[in-house]
Amino acid sequence: MFNFDASGLAGRFWRALAVIGLGLALALPVAAQTTPAVDDPRGGISTLPEVLDARVTATPERARLILDLSGPTEFAIVSLSGPDRIAVDVKSTGTEIAVPPDVAGGGIVSRYRVELAEPGRVRTTLELAAPSQVQQAYILDAVGDQPARLVVDLITDTPERFAERVAADLAASAANQGVPPSALSTDPGTHGGDLTVRPLVVIDPGHGGIDNGASAPNGVHEKNITLAFALDLQKLLVESGRYDVALTREDDTYLTLSDRVALARANKADLFISLHADTFQQPEIRGASVYTRDENATDVLDKVLAENENRYDIVAGFTLPTTEPVVADILLDLMRREMRKSSFIAAQALVRQLEPSVTMRRFPVRQADFFVLQAPDVPSILVELGFLSNAADIANLQKSDWRQRVVAALARGVADYFDALNTPAAP
Ligand SMILES: [Zn+2]
Repeated sequence: MFNFDASGLAGRFWRALAVIGLGLALALPVAAQTTPAVDDPRGGISTLPEVLDARVTATPERARLILDLSGPTEFAIVSLSGPDRIAVDVKSTGTEIAVPPDVAGGGIVSRYRVELAEPGRVRTTLELAAPSQVQQAYILDAVGDQPARLVVDLITDTPERFAERVAADLAASAANQGVPPSALSTDPGTHGGDLTVRPLVVIDPGHGGIDNGASAPNGVHEKNITLAFALDLQKLLVESGRYDVALTREDDTYLTLSDRVALARANKADLFISLHADTFQQPEIRGASVYTRDENATDVLDKVLAENENRYDIVAGFTLPTTEPVVADILLDLMRREMRKSSFIAAQALVRQLEPSVTMRRFPVRQADFFVLQAPDVPSILVELGFLSNAADIANLQKSDWRQRVVAALARGVADYFDALNTPAAP
């Protein structure tokens, strides 16, 4: 079996494009999704990027491989047995890195190694402690201070299905020996399958109109940044075909915080995402984070952010909404707790997809008393995209390629959240 490893088999399955948002139930047979390599006539190994760093994190349910690259490249993935492993090949000149072979934590990947398998191909071999499949794999272009990356997420699978994939990859390899592979791509727009009722995602671009929100020293206003992100996120979610998507505002208009909450509730939103990019008095604070609501949050920075945010209604000439009445109704209380749980799951899903893509704050899933997250019947989260008080964040927030990267990660997170809802919890 091991000489199979070195056969160059995976060279038949290169692909350049991301395969994203496939979800738990729709995890791909990766070999069948690949497209043939497009050979660069001038291309030589010297034009390929280098693998700069590799890291693997694993839990008993999932694992993630991140390769830092000196530039985007093509990759291929194959399942192998004896021992069970998943090999990830990238077209690359090579690598200088030395990784610690053992993966801590008793997760589904126990060990891994990164090596030059042949000139122009670096192979990362993930040794599996449990049968696994690729949930998603994608290339991120370099943006700002963040290098290009390959991200591969694994989730557990049954031994039978793993064995089937090993056999299929082997057969595909044999069938492709010496024969140019035909394009076997599946239309990525149809992953939603037969969903008849699409969940409604309401995106709330923070601030607007007379309320500029935060402002950077260079005069950039938060309201314009949040709207640009919201419009791009809406586009991406609509294109996936899985959701109905609405915005609380589509242009530079003013809405109170109560208006925003009311819009989400009246339309029975399945997920409410408020987008912000605020400031803080310490300019070194930077990075993205995702908030759920908690009136009793204790972190000072979080408190200040929420208080400032809640105050914008006063700035705009509206009184601060009255605090909610004491909850007498136990059903309402139960509903609220349920929504908090869902909101937290959504925040985790978004952070999980943002983490490999962009700089995050430490402990990026956070709680604060944001008034705009108060709907008791709509899972609600607030994304702080970055800080308009930090120079690096200001630069990123204005770059369209950085915005695309963030929006793609948010869209993957939304997909993961709805997939998690549709997956029965383990007993
Ligand atoms: Zn804001």
